Amino acid sequence: MAQIIDGKKIAREIEKELSLELEYLKKHNVQPGLAVILVGENPASQSYVRMKGKACERLGLFSKTIKLPATIPQSALLIEIEKLKHNPLVHGILVQLPLPKHIDEKVILAAVSPEKDVDGFHPMNKGKLMAGEDTFIPCTPAGIQEMLVRSGFSPEGKHVVVVGRSQIVGLPVALLLMHKKTGANATVTVCHTGSGDLTPFTRQADILIAAVGKPAVITADMVREGCIIIDVGSNRIADPTTEKGYRFTGDVAYESVSQKVRAITPVPGGVGPMTIVMLLKNTIKAARLQTNL
Ligand code: NAP
Repeated sequence: MAQIIDGKKIAREIEKELSLELEYLKKHNVQPGLAVILVGENPASQSYVRMKGKACERLGLFSKTIKLPATIPQSALLIEIEKLKHNPLVHGILVQLPLPKHIDEKVILAAVSPEKDVDGFHPMNKGKLMAGEDTFIPCTPAGIQEMLVRSGFSPEGKHVVVVGRSQIVGLPVALLLMHKKTGANATVTVCHTGSGDLTPFTRQADILIAAVGKPAVITADMVREGCIIIDVGSNRIADPTTEKGYRFTGDVAYESVSQKVRAITPVPGGVGPMTIVMLLKNTIKAARLQTNL
């Protein structure tokens, strides 16, 4: 049976470290603040935003959620972002994705000021990540790197296979882990829908990162013994045995894969809590940069 990489526990450890930074900022009368913009009523987005707010509250960050109707014109959304850019209580701005179809995501993400872009999705910050420069690293990739390093599975010198090449997970985690840096320096292979049969790639992985968004795409025959599995997937599936009638499952067939590999992240309780704590970390970093502390 595989070792379980407990994202929740690692996230709590990081929270403790962050609380020391918060103490320091408090002494200088600075309370890091995060503003989250939620457009529409997507239940998954609502739940993510709630979790982010709760995490801020737990640690003592200022947070505010701006809820806007799904019908909001793009121009009005841009005005909301502009207001937050000039709000001194807000050090980090996050626009919850996805946005309604009539809004151009690229325009919105580029409107967030790079120094308040705690999600790391502004084109300038994406470029810095590509160049290996200091920036706001997108929260899920940053969380994956932290959990690997902190659980003793540093990617250095390892072959990492990423399944998925999205702008928010697959592509940035691949870039992050291939840099010539401590906690990275991996050989990275990225698979996607154009890769054909995934198995020849996935079976070569020392570390396999599944960021596909489809339940149980990665099965036991696709991984080798000794592999470390990071399951990013968060797929809502019907389950009449639960109170809510659904539950969340990853991209990896957990029951069978966990019998074979060395270590695996659970869903929920793996990458999710790490993503949230990295958002807090980025918000604190933004506050420090904006106040020169
Ligand atoms: P996405 O934007 O839909 O991207 C999915 C990627 O997987 C795409 O690159 C796609 O390839 C690839 N793909 C889809 N089906 C495939 C297949 N059968 N074989 C190979 N590649 C395939 O999704 P995302 O935003 O990266 O999210 C992925 C999953 O992670 C979702 O379940 C999401 O909910 C979850 N997630 C979790 C967290 C967290 O904190 N836990 C954070 C973010 C996302 P193409 O590029 O060729 O289309």
